[in-house]
Amino acid sequence: MKSEKKIALPGERIAVIEEFMPYSGSYPYAYEEDGNIYSSVVGIVRKDLSKRLIAVEPVPKCTRLPTYNDVVYGQVMSVIKDTVAVTKILGKEGGTRYEVTVTGLLHISQVSETVIRSIYDAVRIGDYIRAKVISRHGPPYLLTIKGRDLGVILAFCPFCHQPLRRHGTLLQCRNCRLSFKRKISAMYLV
Ligand SMILES: [Zn+2]
Repeated sequence: MKSEKKIALPGERIAVIEEFMPYSGSYPYAYEEDGNIYSSVVGIVRKDLSKRLIAVEPVPKCTRLPTYNDVVYGQVMSVIKDTVAVTKILGKEGGTRYEVTVTGLLHISQVSETVIRSIYDAVRIGDYIRAKVISRHGPPYLLTIKGRDLGVILAFCPFCHQPLRRHGTLLQCRNCRLSFKRKISAMYLV
C-alpha cells in the first residue's frame, strides 16, 4: 500500500466510499459511516489504488514524552483550589529533555502517606520538584511526590528570593529568619 505524507487525526474524513473501501487487515483503523471513510487513530494514510483500499497505520508512540514510572523534574506553575499543583515538566532524570514542554498534575493525595490539609503545605508556586509519573497517558501527566527522594528539591524565599536552606523538616531563609513548610525531597539541593 502506498503511504501518503499526510497524518490523519481521529475522526477525520479521509475518503468517500465511491473512491475507496476501508481495509480491514493489519491496520483496521479506517471505518465507514454514511458513505464517508474516517480515521480512528493518529496515523499515516495508506492507499492501494488498484484494489481501491484505504487504511490508516497508527504512528508509533513518541518516545520523547514522559512515560509511566519516569522520575521527572518540574516547576510548580499554579495551584488549583488548594488541592492540585500544576507543574511544568522540564526533563527526565538523567538529563533527558522531552521534545515538548508538558504539564504534570500533582494532587494533594499524592504528596505523602499522611493526610495534608492544603497542597500549600507541600509545594508553592515557583518550587522545583522531583516527582514520579503515575499515569500511562498524557499530557497532562499525573505525578506523585510520595517517597523519601521525591518532593521539593529547590525553593526560594517569597520575600528576598534567596534559595531556602533545609533545616530539619523545614526550609529556612537565613536573610529573613523565616521558616517554610514543604514536602522536602531527601535530595534537596541547598
Ligand atoms: Zn528571605
